[in-house]
Amino acid sequence: MQAHGSSALAPAAIAVAKVALEQPLATPLDYRVPESLIAACQLGQRVLVPLGPRHVQGYVVALTPGSEVEAEALKPIVDVLDDESPLLTPALLKLTRWVADYYMCPWGLVLKAAVPQGFRVRSEAVYRLTPQAQAEPSAWPGGRAASALQLLAEQGPQRRSELARKLDVDVKGIGPLLRRLETEGWVAGEQQRQAPKVRQRMVAVVRLTLSPEDAEALHQEVASRAPKQADVLSQLIQQPLWELADLQAQVPGARAAVQRLVQRGAVAMEQVEKMRSVIPKDVRSPDTLPRLNAAQQHAFQQIEVKLAAPDGVPVLLLGVTGSGKTEVYMRAIDTALKQDKTALVLVPEISLTAQATERFTMRFGDRIAVLHSGLSAGERFDEWRRLARGEARIAIGARSAVFAPLPNLGLIIVDEEHDTSYKQEEAPRYHARDVAIVRAQQERAVVVLGSATPALETFHHARRGKYLHLSLPKRVSDQPLPKIMIVDQRVHATPNERVISTPLRHAIAERLERGEQCLILINRRGYSAYLQCRECGDVPHCAHCSVSLTYHARGRTLKCHYCDYTQPAPTACPVCHGPVLHHYGVGTQQVEDVLRALFPEARLGRMDRDTTRGKAAHERILRSFGAHEVDILIGTQMIAKGHDFPNITLVGVVSADGALSIPDFRAPERLFQLLTQVAGRAGRGARPGEVLIQTFRPDFESMTFAREHDFLGFFQHEIQNRRLLLYPPYMRLAKVLLDSPDPERAQTAGEWLAGQFARHLAEPQRLEVLGPAEAPLAKLQNRYRWHIMLKAATSRELHGWLQQTLDTAQQDRQHLRNVRMSIDIDPVLFL
Ligand code: ADP
Ligand code: ZN
Repeated sequence: MQAHGSSALAPAAIAVAKVALEQPLATPLDYRVPESLIAACQLGQRVLVPLGPRHVQGYVVALTPGSEVEAEALKPIVDVLDDESPLLTPALLKLTRWVADYYMCPWGLVLKAAVPQGFRVRSEAVYRLTPQAQAEPSAWPGGRAASALQLLAEQGPQRRSELARKLDVDVKGIGPLLRRLETEGWVAGEQQRQAPKVRQRMVAVVRLTLSPEDAEALHQEVASRAPKQADVLSQLIQQPLWELADLQAQVPGARAAVQRLVQRGAVAMEQVEKMRSVIPKDVRSPDTLPRLNAAQQHAFQQIEVKLAAPDGVPVLLLGVTGSGKTEVYMRAIDTALKQDKTALVLVPEISLTAQATERFTMRFGDRIAVLHSGLSAGERFDEWRRLARGEARIAIGARSAVFAPLPNLGLIIVDEEHDTSYKQEEAPRYHARDVAIVRAQQERAVVVLGSATPALETFHHARRGKYLHLSLPKRVSDQPLPKIMIVDQRVHATPNERVISTPLRHAIAERLERGEQCLILINRRGYSAYLQCRECGDVPHCAHCSVSLTYHARGRTLKCHYCDYTQPAPTACPVCHGPVLHHYGVGTQQVEDVLRALFPEARLGRMDRDTTRGKAAHERILRSFGAHEVDILIGTQMIAKGHDFPNITLVGVVSADGALSIPDFRAPERLFQLLTQVAGRAGRGARPGEVLIQTFRPDFESMTFAREHDFLGFFQHEIQNRRLLLYPPYMRLAKVLLDSPDPERAQTAGEWLAGQFARHLAEPQRLEVLGPAEAPLAKLQNRYRWHIMLKAATSRELHGWLQQTLDTAQQDRQHLRNVRMSIDIDPVLFL
């Protein structure tokens, strides 16, 4: 973070800063840099600036001598927010700029997503009565205004949000009232900065200020009269600097003794920063590294060649499950560190960061920093700063860690690169794997994409030579890949076998007898998918979304899995009062109940969104499974990924078919990946693994290729479909979603906008508009949704077309009135 060049302005220059605000604004705005801030205001610095009546946070993205805005109209920057070096390096500014352009999202919003929230500063108006109002309460206006004035008179100055809360109006609603009172001269508002949510954690330390000889002498002197002081002194003689808390642990009641010693001038007590640490403690590093097998050795050497001379070509490391990819990553990281570079490791989800962190900590200790949404704001704040200062040299984290502040970046690992959680489903809608590839190019780093089931797009690039293709075709110690069997549920159709078929039941019983562990995958949480009245056929739906409600047996509720709307489960049909409601579809809770009935002696665990809400819940569940306190772990796809538990010898998939009913051209690919990944959890130790997949579609390609562990076969089959139907990687896609509380407006806006896209079709062979169509999830949280799909032969054409059409559409805003538009480049979800 030191090398920012001469970004501070010379005082002579006319100082204008372009500031990207954390607001939905198309471009950064110009602000004047006041004389007093010229030295402090640097590129990448966070600043507080006026926007309308408020002060908001933004980032200095450029400094120029002049502006196109007239000098008088330029508002000044209110304050520079970081006293240390700027938060954003030029490299991160460049990267976020690319993300903003490519994903068509305001730069400031990208920056907001990149920087931990703990850094944010807010300012809010504080209102007080004017002298006039105080002087003549009899002249106050009536109604709600009177209540507001009364409140200010009784309770003194109030923040806007406090006022709103106490008057029981929402924060937006109180705006007009306060503005009126301000113009009429009853109240005065002033912006005040609110303290950021997190700050440095400070701890008291005690330091010996005497020379060793003087300390010994003093020790002798106090030994008999003040034994506590003597104890403290002898600790300080051994170690001259202590954290007060540690000293108190050694010498109970040390605080008072320290105070005495401070008075004597023997020690000093001061506050110093102590960063919060999230790195697991007491992790032992193994004495010897495993010897790489031949395939690992080859892969590692190839990556070393790239590290020595980065050529901008991404590396695909295709290694079957359990082939030792992580070991290769760690060797490569070690090489990067030896070159004095830093490394970034992306893992798909929080559930995986715990295990990854532990493994990486064993090797690299506190050179690691962890970044993910499961951390507290304070922890993220500290991890970010440890990286920025170079105190930690390896960042591990989920999606947004792709923006980690790593000076001199040498290597980026994207583990399980095919995973959909790398795509962010709200603005900025970036794909962390693709951003990682761009970041590596921009910073001349090497990027390694690892997976047993790469995305079709990724493998396609590798086959065409755009990526370097390395492979680990076997498991590390030559353990066989698990044997996969498909259980045809049409044959096992009796009510008793609906959830757990006879073959799966036998297989589980065998494992329990041998003291081995089982993993049972079911891709739906809750008890059953939906309820249906046997008489009128009614299915209870969410009040706010166009989806059926899922039945949760615990608490007997119906829940919407999109908006969390919850209602008590009805005992009779709410429509026709029919007394029988049937359960359809199976969820994790039902599987748990059925297994408990079948194997009352077995210890069961469940891992899904309902059981992992707490902060360390993932870790706790996985740890107890790892310690074999659980025999059968039931879970949604979060149990499928990445974990390495050698005692699992059976994986059961209760129903594989649900994944195919979603309207998504990637559904077969997803299913193949899921089956291969979950199968990969079996048989990683000494004993071989077995996998049973229950399905009503035993001949479907995703199942048959997964059964043969045949990624290449699946790829060749599926890529044909993509070519025929003109889907990625042969075309680029964008999705434009229009949603509105008014169903008609959403539709007419969609029709109008699709017409605009059609008008701007330059080359019909290379571009295509599909839709508008009602989105599969036609209503979400009371908003009606329509979407338009755009296809183009190249991303350049896609962007050009979008930009041109949207520019003209902006001039015709009335067609989009009351409609929210969002653009999704390279979309992953089509709901
Ligand atoms: P992957 O990430 O490809 O699924 P892992 O890296 O998790 O595979 O490796 C699986 C297991 O094999 C881990 O427990 C790891 O420590 C071990 N392992 C990796 N490489 C070797 C090796 N060369 N020799 C022995 N064990 C190894
Ligand atoms: Zn809902």
